[in-house]
Amino acid sequence: MAEPKAVDQLTLAEAKKEITPLRQQIAKWGREYYEQDNPSVEDFVYDRAYQRLVQMEQRFPSLVTPDSPTQRVGGQTSGSLPKVNHEIPMLSMGDVFSVDELMDFNKRQQDNDEMDANDPEYNLELKIDGLSLSVVYENGKLVQASTRGNGEIGEDVTRNVKLIKDVPQTLPEPLSLEFRGECYMPKEAFAKLNAKREENGETIFANPRNAAAGSLRQLDPRITGRRQLATFMYYVPEWRKLGVTTQAESLQRMRDLGFVVNPTNRVVHSKADIQQYIQEYTAKRDQLPYGIDGIVEKVNDLATQDALGATVKVPRWEIAYKFPPEEQATVVHDIEWTVGRTGNVTPTAVMDPVQLAGTTVSRASLHNPDYLQDKDIRIGDTVYLHKAGDIIPEISRVDKDKRPADSQPYVIPDKCPVCGSDLVHLDGEVALRCINPMCPAQIKEGLAHFASRNAMNIDGLGPKIVNQLWSKHLIHDFADLYQLTRDQLLTLDKFGDKSATNLLTSIDNSRHNSVERLLFGLGIRHVGAKAAQLLAEHFGSMDQLMAASAEEISAVNNIGPTIGDSVATYFANSEVEELINKFKQVGVNMDYLGQSPEEVTAAQADSPWNGRRVVLTGTLSKMTRHQATDWLTSHGAKVTGSVSKKTDLLIAGDKAGSKLTKAQNLGITIWDEEKFSREIEEEQ
Ligand code: NAD
Repeated sequence: MAEPKAVDQLTLAEAKKEITPLRQQIAKWGREYYEQDNPSVEDFVYDRAYQRLVQMEQRFPSLVTPDSPTQRVGGQTSGSLPKVNHEIPMLSMGDVFSVDELMDFNKRQQDNDEMDANDPEYNLELKIDGLSLSVVYENGKLVQASTRGNGEIGEDVTRNVKLIKDVPQTLPEPLSLEFRGECYMPKEAFAKLNAKREENGETIFANPRNAAAGSLRQLDPRITGRRQLATFMYYVPEWRKLGVTTQAESLQRMRDLGFVVNPTNRVVHSKADIQQYIQEYTAKRDQLPYGIDGIVEKVNDLATQDALGATVKVPRWEIAYKFPPEEQATVVHDIEWTVGRTGNVTPTAVMDPVQLAGTTVSRASLHNPDYLQDKDIRIGDTVYLHKAGDIIPEISRVDKDKRPADSQPYVIPDKCPVCGSDLVHLDGEVALRCINPMCPAQIKEGLAHFASRNAMNIDGLGPKIVNQLWSKHLIHDFADLYQLTRDQLLTLDKFGDKSATNLLTSIDNSRHNSVERLLFGLGIRHVGAKAAQLLAEHFGSMDQLMAASAEEISAVNNIGPTIGDSVATYFANSEVEELINKFKQVGVNMDYLGQSPEEVTAAQADSPWNGRRVVLTGTLSKMTRHQATDWLTSHGAKVTGSVSKKTDLLIAGDKAGSKLTKAQNLGITIWDEEKFSREIEEEQ
């Protein structure tokens, strides 16, 4: 692609012609990014276009319009969440892309009379890759949380934020004040969420920032609650009320109030210090458990910050140094298709290995056929790889100039690469699926699930053993597990007499499970542990369920047509019927047995409360202390009488006294009764 003419070479007429489409393009990318949480281009592509617009407007000020993206904070308040007016606008931030540009910015800033040019003091912080969040407290109680939106009006996400564990519900002081920070999704949670979405045939999030925004801006707060969002707080607009005078002090003060504050900030005075910090965190970036996209430099003295003020869009006292995009070119040799447990068939590009952000990368998921086709990736193509959210290798683009002359568009397969059945696109899904429940690849992937704790609970049958049993052809379907012999198990790697006995005992025990475990273990699409339980309770046995029509199944309370259709279709397959008969022959129980004590324990083991040390204090209004203790212990928590370093959580009712103070001093998580009640509702 030809490089566009440098801005300082443009005539006014040329700039006029280019500027409107450029603005429209930037506005479109902005909507995709801020409102739909689904950008179509990499950030550096957006940044390059935005920089060009800034330069054009600087060169030809007559072309600036009030609706230009340079004059407004990106983002609107779309969707149905209630709106919130920001009394103090939430601004965006200027950015620079090199240390030289940063020094130029500092020089211009130090020319300002408000700054001490002889000894400028800055506080450096990591730029967390999330979205800004405002939380407002009244008399020390969290009353409102909102997103930035367009800077003036944001979205009310109070109910959602109350389920983010990092955010204190109450402060140890009766402050009435707004705090601001970044809401983000840790790398691990981001990788897990995307893997799950891919398996479910949903579109994946491009980066942790979009994943965090998509998860926070949910109408159903329970979804937010499940998404493992976290926060780092970094700003108090009305800092005087906190009795602090510098940015670094305000961070410490927020820490003391129980907020989570990123620990890496550093007060610096010189270019060398700034360079050192940038170098240090450019190198450490890959190891951090959260994504960062740059470094923020802030004037440390808060009165000077206020005196410097802001433009319509960005504060003059802070600037972001953005990391250069980390990309590597490599060549695609193959596109492999793998079949997941639920039949999702996923393409993976196999490439020449390259070093990227600290690891050697030779494979990148292409997620689904649409993704592959949109990017028009072909075998033999030279592609650029980056790591989405600093963690997941992804192909950013194809270098079409390097495409071999005889290259052909990639043809998406229409048969399962493993069992040869037709592949289908189910309604509303981007994924391609093999819907043959007896597909060997699905069975192999499904075996570990079949054995898992909430399913048949076969201890000792993890993915490594499954792989060996499979590759030695000792099992071909789930029921074969029940015919394994000691001699067969002794042929497995590192398998002695004791492991064989243990595994055979676990397999044998699982024959007596109540049928919902088998139902869940089969891996029928859309049938999770809860649906399996409801179906088993309702129908009483596998035979009754298999005899039911899709309508009858759908009519069960809390089941509905998606599960109804999926279950009926699954059992209509004659091979499935054979499998169930085989289970019967090997003595696997087919009846609902109600909840046994072991299952209560298993459910506890799965509960997020399991093993948590909780202390109750103060007066609870919605339940007695006894009821609260019963509920907690039945969910696996340990309720103790006194607060110590080992305490995980203090639930504080009204008039909480010394235990509350002690927990605050020890930095223990504190919930009020309202938060506890909501968690109870969640668990029901
Ligand atoms: P920004 O995200 O670059 O910077 C401002 C934000 O940084 C603040 O609002 C705050 O939320 C955050 N931040 C993180 N850590 C911080 C800290 N320690 N202190 C203070 N603030 C901190 O600005 P923006 O206006 O929200 O978005 C612009 C960026 O979004 C662009 O740089 C671009 O990369 C990206 N974008 C991409 C697309 C796309 O299509 N790919 C479209 C629009 C915007």
